[in-house]
This record gives sequence, structure tokens and C-alpha cells, in this order.
Amino acid sequence: MKDHSPILPGATIGFLGGGQLGRMTAFAARSMGYDIAVMDPDPDCPAGPMASRLITAPYADADAAAELARGCDVVTLEIEQIPLATLEAAAALAPLRPGVDVVHMIQDRGRQKSWLHSHGFPVGPHRIVESEEDCVDAVRTMGASIIKSCFGGYDGRGQARVSDHVEAAEGWHTVGAARCVVEGFLDIADELSILVARQSDGSCSVFPPARNHHVNGVLAWSVTPTGLDAAVERDARALGRAVAEASGIEGLLAVEIFLLHDGRLLVNELAPRPHNTFHATERACATSQFEQLVRTICNLPFGDTTILDPTAIANMLGDLWTSGTPEFTEALSVAGVRLHLYGKKSARPGRKMGHLSGVGADYAHALVRTLDAYDALGGAPADRRSMEPHAASARIRP
Ligand code: AMP
Repeated sequence: MKDHSPILPGATIGFLGGGQLGRMTAFAARSMGYDIAVMDPDPDCPAGPMASRLITAPYADADAAAELARGCDVVTLEIEQIPLATLEAAAALAPLRPGVDVVHMIQDRGRQKSWLHSHGFPVGPHRIVESEEDCVDAVRTMGASIIKSCFGGYDGRGQARVSDHVEAAEGWHTVGAARCVVEGFLDIADELSILVARQSDGSCSVFPPARNHHVNGVLAWSVTPTGLDAAVERDARALGRAVAEASGIEGLLAVEIFLLHDGRLLVNELAPRPHNTFHATERACATSQFEQLVRTICNLPFGDTTILDPTAIANMLGDLWTSGTPEFTEALSVAGVRLHLYGKKSARPGRKMGHLSGVGADYAHALVRTLDAYDALGGAPADRRSMEPHAASARIRP
């Protein structure tokens, strides 16, 4: 029997993973009066300063996860790459929300794609491959492709783009994984994401969609509202909600969606946790994704997700630190802009160090302010392509 009773402020929430997502969720939880415990391999992890109890251990340490869960009323996670034995050890001692099975399904890209496909959700052409030969063969069939490692790849890592089967062998070795998904290269007009909160009693709340722009496979900026046609948004929300319901998740499910030039919506991938493309909810919506996660896993009423202020965010990667500290003062002189830093000590290129958020009268105003502030940081200028949706008038009908 599932327990739907509320876990009230004063209780302790445990986090498997103490990166920026854990840190921002912990801020929200702290302000609601919860205590925080964190397990992370890095003693300097971003969520560490928020925690009363920090367990430094690798994710493969199931005993450490049990130790974490023992002192917690509920345990959640901010990273899906956690071994099954660790998830099970935590779940044996405290409710683990999002749930062991859904994380297990999501954490292997191949397993996730097969699950989506077998549940009738729209995905692009793909094939799971376990050898160079299979990989070359898949690319020969699909043409230009992206080879993605089934495990561990994120933010464009663990991936190779190949234009034909001649490049496929090199791509297979560049990725260097035993199991990959080969995906046909899609004709994407716009990228959206949907965030669904689902409680253990099956009730759901869906955030307004975000529209996202990636550079080299990494999120550069995101904006809410999207500026897309209302019919596209409605269909994307329905798709995201259906995926969340089928998955049985208890927590947040982010559903990344491609809108193709021919008008189709395809699911790219899932994440069972807060998502970079919903950082804007801290300012855009009456309830942030972080507070919604806390409410969801504690069986409290969902917060209102109505948009109060159109908001954009721009990610700040470690590259901005190459020639010293970025020009924060300049960036903060732009009206409506705030700085969010994650407290990471070393700024490696490609590492997410923080983001800027900016509110405006509408999505375009918010985005211009945010990217102006980004440019003021003094690094390479923001990529301003796709500020207008490409497919604003696309109508999606099955
Ligand atoms: P992912 O790591 O799967 O989230 O991919 C990161 C980004 O790469 C996406 O947001 C897209 O911009 C791009 N991408 C991923 N898969 C494909 C695909 N099959 N075709 C074209 N672009 C893709």
C-alpha cells in the first residue's frame, strides 16, 4: 500500500546527488522548513552547504545510500546515473521518489527509447547497437546520425555526430561505449520541454512548456512562455503528461521534445528530476520547479504553475572563466536580470557554473535582456539564432 500522507515541514529530505539541482531544491526545501541530508562523491558539492548531514561516497556505495535514507523521511535524487543496488538500498529504508523502476528505465538511453516506443510514444528513427559493425550498419540505413552512449552521456558528452557510414566507425570509437543508440539526424524546427509533477496518488500538475536553444548539444538558453502556437503547446503538454502517467513516476519528469519542420512532435529524452530548461520557473511561475518537487515528494498540494512573468535563462559555462572572473557587475546592470551561481570551486570548460535569469514584458523582451546581460559577462557573444520560434504557426494534428 502506498503512503499518501503528507510529510510535513520539520521532516528531513535526503538527496542522492548534491549538484546544482540538489542545491536549488534544497534552497526551496529549507525555506519551507525541511532539513536536508545529501550524499555525493564530492565533499565540495554545491548542495553541501545546504545540508545538515553530508555523506561523501561514490554512487556505487549502497551502504552509504542506506545510511543516508536511515535518517530521512523521504529520499529524492538529482542525477539518474545511480546504480540499481544503491537505489534499492535507499528505497528499502525510506520512500524513494521518483521510484526505482522509473529511474532504472530512464538511466539507459537504449532502455528508455525502447520503453517510449513500446508504449506508443513518438520517437525518431533509432537503433541500439553493441558493436562497431552494427553501428556502421545502422548509419548506412539511417544516413546522417548521432551516436549516443547508452550510459553516462550528458550535455553533448558521450556523443558523436556522423554524416555517413564511412564516419560511423570513427564515431563509434570516439564515443567508446559498449552499447549505444544510433539516432537518425532529425530536421528540428524548435526544441521544447515539458515538466510534469506526479504524486504517489497519480495526480499530476504540468508546467507551461519551455523553448530551448542548444549549442554543441548543451543548453545555451531557454525561455518561458515559448512563443509557439497554442496548439503546439497543448499537444506537447498532453504528450508530456501521458509519458509521466505511463511511467508511474512520483516526482518530476522532464520530457524533452523536438518539433520537426513537418510539424511532428517527437520525444527526445526523459529526466526524472528538476531540469535545466525549467530554471526559469523560479521567476516565471508562481511555484518554481524546485518547490514543486518538494511539494510533490512530500504529498503536499501542488503549487500553482501559472506564468506571472515571462522569463529567460542563459547558462554560464566554465569557458566564461578562461580569462578570469566574468564581468558580473556589467551583467547585473541590465534591468530584470539576476545571477545564479552554483558555488563550484573549479571552472572547467563546458562545466555548468551558473545561469542568468531575466524577466520581461514578453518572452522576446526577457530573452533580449538575458542575452544582453550574458554578452556583458565578457565571453564569446550569445548565440542569438532561434530567438524567434521557427515553427510558430505549425499546427500539430495526428
Ligand atoms: P541530448 O543529449 O539527446 O539531449 O541532445 C542534445 C541536443 O543535441 C538536443 O537538444 C538537440 O539539439 C541535438 N540532438 C539530439 N538528438 C538529435 C537528433 N536525433 N537529431 C538532431 N539533433 C539532435
